[in-house]
Amino acid sequence: MLFGCIICALLPVSLVLFSYLIYSFSLESWKDCDVPLRVWFYVAMFNIAYHINLGGRSLHRQVIRTVCRYQAPEQSLEIPPTRVRFYHWLTTVFVFSWHCIGLHWTRISLSCHQTAPNMFMATYLFASFNVFFTIFTVVSTYGLQHMLASLLRRGLLPSSMVDRAAPEGTLDLQQTVTFNPLEFGDALQCPICMEDFNKEHAIKKTVCGHYFHEGCLIHWLKVNRNCPLCRRDLASALSCRLVGNMVSICRSFAKLPDLTFLTATVSGSW
Ligand SMILES: [Zn+2]
Ligand SMILES: [Zn+2]
Repeated sequence: MLFGCIICALLPVSLVLFSYLIYSFSLESWKDCDVPLRVWFYVAMFNIAYHINLGGRSLHRQVIRTVCRYQAPEQSLEIPPTRVRFYHWLTTVFVFSWHCIGLHWTRISLSCHQTAPNMFMATYLFASFNVFFTIFTVVSTYGLQHMLASLLRRGLLPSSMVDRAAPEGTLDLQQTVTFNPLEFGDALQCPICMEDFNKEHAIKKTVCGHYFHEGCLIHWLKVNRNCPLCRRDLASALSCRLVGNMVSICRSFAKLPDLTFLTATVSGSW
């Protein structure tokens, strides 16, 4: 939440600096400069044009489709293959390095701040901001991941954050059904992805009688064991079965006669 707010606050700053960069280069690009800031500017502009996203399309995505031969499925949590992640990493490192180079050139320049002061200052500010922004994003993301992992290992995370994922076998408790508009009534859409049901995608009917795509429910159960609609615990039957098995094992060994009352309770509720 805090991270999102900081990013939102930094976006206008980045837009202002970007406008200043364009303005200053259009004003002074013909002036002498003892470091190749013009080259830096053209490559930086190409980087931006390469990554800019217009209606879900960008050169970057196009390269992933044609060179890496990978098309990310719509509304999927799928982790891309190694070659795509490597390509993402490579482009990020290149952009970061290019801003570092821009910053370095402004630091070693002897006369550019006098011959082309706006161009010099705009490069210095834009490159510094982007170096800071990249480091901040990486540290925030990885720092948070490590902190959560460390808290998890030490058992310091609130149980409400750890225990929500459904235990293994929960999905198998939900009935697999085929799409039938008469049986489904008003529930013609998957409440998780809001897509219409059809006979091509596997559907699960939960123990509480709600319908979801099997794929959507798999992702949901990784983070929450309750039904997304009515909040009923979808794994409760699993715990009952576990207790039932334990009781039957206990009974077979006949070592815990005082569990008779529990056996009776569980059998009664079965
Ligand atoms: Zn769905
Ligand atoms: Zn439900």
